[in-house]
Amino acid sequence: LSERLSGILDKLTRRGALTEEDVNAAMREVRRALLEADVALDVVRSFTDKVRARAVGQEVIRSVTPGQQVIKIVHDTLVDMLGSDARPIDLEAPAPVAIMMVGLQGSGKTTTTAKIGLRLTARSRRKVLLASLDTRRPAAQEQLRVLGVQNEVDTLPIVAGQSPTQIAERAMTAGRLGGYDVVILDTAGRIHIDEQLMLEMAEIKRVAKPHEILLVADALTGQDAVNLAKSFDERVGLTGIVLTRMDGDGRGGAALSMRAVTGKPIKLIGVGEKADALEDFDPARIAGRILGMGDIVALVERAAQEIDVQKAAKAAQRMQKGLFDLDDLAEQLRQMEKMGGMKGMMALLPGMGKMSKELDKVDDRIVKRQIAIISSMTSKERRKPELLNASRKRRVAAGSGTRVEDINRLLKQHRQMADMMKMLGKKKGGMLGGLGSM
Ligand code: GDP
Ligand code: MG
Repeated sequence: LSERLSGILDKLTRRGALTEEDVNAAMREVRRALLEADVALDVVRSFTDKVRARAVGQEVIRSVTPGQQVIKIVHDTLVDMLGSDARPIDLEAPAPVAIMMVGLQGSGKTTTTAKIGLRLTARSRRKVLLASLDTRRPAAQEQLRVLGVQNEVDTLPIVAGQSPTQIAERAMTAGRLGGYDVVILDTAGRIHIDEQLMLEMAEIKRVAKPHEILLVADALTGQDAVNLAKSFDERVGLTGIVLTRMDGDGRGGAALSMRAVTGKPIKLIGVGEKADALEDFDPARIAGRILGMGDIVALVERAAQEIDVQKAAKAAQRMQKGLFDLDDLAEQLRQMEKMGGMKGMMALLPGMGKMSKELDKVDDRIVKRQIAIISSMTSKERRKPELLNASRKRRVAAGSGTRVEDINRLLKQHRQMADMMKMLGKKKGGMLGGLGSM
């Protein structure tokens, strides 16, 4: 995606505000990226609508191209939609707090049950009991028992011939009697969603009254993600989602689909088979992954920096030729503002000691005022300051909310700087030469 997008970024010229055209061009690529990441079609549509509404008409940041800005808006909107508030598992309920794990067969329920068990015992110092309610697969209960032993988390003793509901009842009783803080119920899945599964889940829920019901879903779940999350949420009621196999190739588009369709937070991410391969959900990271870019915000910031470096080089070349008009001064003042004022700028240019005395008098509020003065001039006046006679100065003062004295002071400063530039420019290969090749 990033290559195609940067092609579009190049095509977009710099303008005052983002136009519908700018946004549409970038949006076509974003749409393709989302579909490649397996985000459900409906979700893609509502997402791009949201971005369009946010982006069109927005002012372009000075140092960023419209395309880059659209991408940043896309990224930020994606983070918002994924849920910018990271939410851990909620244990604020009377003990034993039941957590019910639901999902399709092979999605990672049993593994995640053990992972959460380990995290809550090792990190949060809770007393945790794990219980497998999977009576369908012969070795399922044994699988959880072994994981419990490996990770030193208690598991409910296996009793043959009980139904899932009976096991749930027994787990909650054991939780109460054993003084457990948390009971995690690992349920059986199916290959597909079916009526029997939903009835079984509803029955377990009625008995255990879980405080959290977490849907465990594979990151590779494609267009099915919407149906999956919707069905479980409607029939059982979810409190959160765990996305597993994020260590694989999946771009994680399912995260956006499931979040969009249920509004339920993604709480945790599975990143491997081992019991400690569980991470908190980080929307910015997933957003970058869905878009197929590492870190878009960093990209935009880097671009902004490059533009500044290019400008500085161009300015240095002009200075070498002895050119320094009020546009150049305005640009310098803007750079100074950004680099932390005059002091920050001087720190970067040790060779400018002579000038620093003169410039030191200028404090940062004055910098802002000076930029305002220059903005109130016509472009002709900026190129040829000598045009500024008394009446023009009065006009500029009125336009910038300053006094004629301020204009005079600025013009004097500009003359001094221009002279200095000429002098420095003549010293071939001097400081400005170095700046020019930056
Ligand atoms: P269940 O049927 O939903 O209980 O699924 P399991 O917990 O038995 O997991 C099925 C397979 O997926 C096992 O081989 C797990 O080791 C593997 N698995 C689960 N979570 C992850 C994960 O986050 N990353 C990877 N790479 N494998 C996982
Ligand atoms: Mg299982």
